[in-house]
Amino acid sequence: MKEDCVFCKIAKKEIPAAIVYEDKDIIAFNDIKPQAPVHVIVIPKRHIDRVSDLSNENTGLAGKLIIASNSIAREKGIVDGGYRMTINCNRDAGQEVFHMHIHVLGGRKMGWPPG
Ligand code: AMP
Repeated sequence: MKEDCVFCKIAKKEIPAAIVYEDKDIIAFNDIKPQAPVHVIVIPKRHIDRVSDLSNENTGLAGKLIIASNSIAREKGIVDGGYRMTINCNRDAGQEVFHMHIHVLGGRKMGWPPG
C-alpha cells in the first residue's frame, strides 16, 4: 500500500469503484473515463509503480494479470470480436496512474498504430 495511490485505495476499498473481478492478488474495475464500450483496469493489489519494475520474481503475478484479463474479456463477451490489453509505462506512453495496470479494451473496432 502506497499513501496517496488511487489504485491502492481502490484495492483497499477505501474509495469506490465498479469492481468486475477480484482474487487474493488482483482486483479489476471499470475505468472511470472509458475509452471503449468495455474498458476495465486490472491491477495487482500489491503496489508496483510501473510494468518495468517487474522482475523474474513476479512471473507468477504477471501471468495471473494476463489470465485474469482474458477471463474478464470472456465475461464481457468481447473475445470473438477482439480486444486489446494495453500497459502504459512512464511519460511517453501516457502513464498517469503510477500503480501498474492493464487496460482491457473492447467492444469497438480499434485503430493501429495506437496514438
Ligand atoms: P494510465 O494513463 O495508463 O495510467 O491509465 C490510468 C487510467 O486510470 C485512466 O484510463 C483513468 O481514466 C483511470 N482512472 C483514474 N482514476 C480512476 C478511478 N478512481 N477509478 C477508475 N479508473 C480510474
